[in-house]
Parts: sequence; C-alpha cells; structure tokens
Amino acid sequence: MKLIIANWKAYITSKKAAKELVADIIKQKISKEVELVLCPPAVFLADLQKSRSKKFSFGLQNIFWERRGAYTGETTLDMLDDFPARYVILGHSERRTHLGETDEIVNRKIKAVLTAGLKAVLCVGEREREDQKSVPAVVGEQVKRSLAGINPIQLKDLVVAYEPVWAIGTGAPDTPHDALSAAIYIRKVISEMHGSKVGAGIKVLYGGSVSAANVADFVNQEGIDGVLIGKASTDKKEFIQILKSIY
Ligand code: PEP
Repeated sequence: MKLIIANWKAYITSKKAAKELVADIIKQKISKEVELVLCPPAVFLADLQKSRSKKFSFGLQNIFWERRGAYTGETTLDMLDDFPARYVILGHSERRTHLGETDEIVNRKIKAVLTAGLKAVLCVGEREREDQKSVPAVVGEQVKRSLAGINPIQLKDLVVAYEPVWAIGTGAPDTPHDALSAAIYIRKVISEMHGSKVGAGIKVLYGGSVSAANVADFVNQEGIDGVLIGKASTDKKEFIQILKSIY
C-alpha cells in the first residue's frame, strides 16, 4: 500500500476550483494499493464536506498546537471537529522558510496532532543539493528534535516525508536511489530512538518535483512508502496521469 499525499499549498485559490479538482479525482479509478490524501487550503474544507469519497481522505497543510484561545489567525484542532481531516502536514520547508517554524515548534504541533488521534506528516530535508552528504547530520537532527519527548506508542500515526528543499518546486527531483538512502537513514534514526520495531513501522515518503514522468520510480522502491506531491497535484491532467502511473 502506497500513500499519496497531495499538497495543494496556495495554488488553488477558489472554492470552485477546489470542488472541480475533487470532482475530477472522484471520477478516476484509484488503485486499491493506493491510499490517497488531499490537502486543500483549510478554508475550503467546509465546502468540500459534501465531496467526501471513499477514494480519498482529507488532510491539512498545517495546524496550531493549542486547541483554542487567543491565537489570532491560527487554525486549531478544535475547529476540525466538524471536518473530515485525517492527516496534518507539519514542518513543511515553506513554513520553515517563510514563517520561521523551528523543530521545537514542529515538535509541539506533532504532539498535539498525535494526541488528537490524527496522523502527523513530518517534513524534513536538507537545503542545498551539495549538502546531500549532510543528510545524516541535518535530517537526523530534524527528526530527533521534532520527535523529542513523544510517546513511541503514538508514533504508529507518524509519517515522515523526506523532502530535500532544493528539489521542491524546482523540476529537479532527487534520484530514487538517494531518496531511498535518506528513507533508510530516517528509519534508522527512529529505530535508534525507539527500537527497530517502531522504526520499521514508520512510513517514509519522498517529496520534491514528483510528476507523472517520475512517480513510479519513487513508489516502486520498496523502502519508499509513497510520495508527497505539491504543484503537480493541482494540475488536473498531470495528477490524473500520476494516479494512472501507479500500478
Ligand atoms: C511539496 O509541497 O511538499 C512539494 C514536494 O512540492 P512540489 O511537488 O511542487 O515540488
């Protein structure tokens, strides 16, 4: 079973476009070997309620760690009670870059999401392609700091997305070989923290310029449990082609 997460970011900016994209996806045959998660901007979730389908679940692109209170501008877990979101993307590099999110902030958010019984998708990745040799140092630290103090029992609901920042939105994806090495390393770090059973149970995805042309190369790797897709997931034709390219 491969997990495909579509991160619409702020590419889809109208209720109409969001509904149309979901309607187009519903028409597709989705392989039984695929778990599909759509992450629209939170503001459209209520409008997409009626578009629920067994073919996919909804996720969020971010959440705040407190449930309610004086937190201007935040979306909180309490607001989700009426909405069907199951997954929450956390620590995306765009939030780290533009909003100053640190591993400590991401850690608080992961704790809140796992405690609420939702699935947390932790994004990690080095910034420069030349830094790829530093994956152990950079990515290892991100994983350790983001998961500090979390009860290992809760990690059954954790997904880690390896997203090298230099590959996001650039059209220059990582190689499947290097993405697999990073996935293996991430599981090793978690195994060292919590034992090999917990490490082996963690789903690790690849993200960064995934397209119809390359998606199969990533998902066909046994140690890569799926992909997180940004821009290509908001292009109807491309995304349908992606869904067709898997199995
Ligand atoms: C992402 O949003 O996490 C991402 C991988 O973006 P893109 O697919 O556009 O590179």
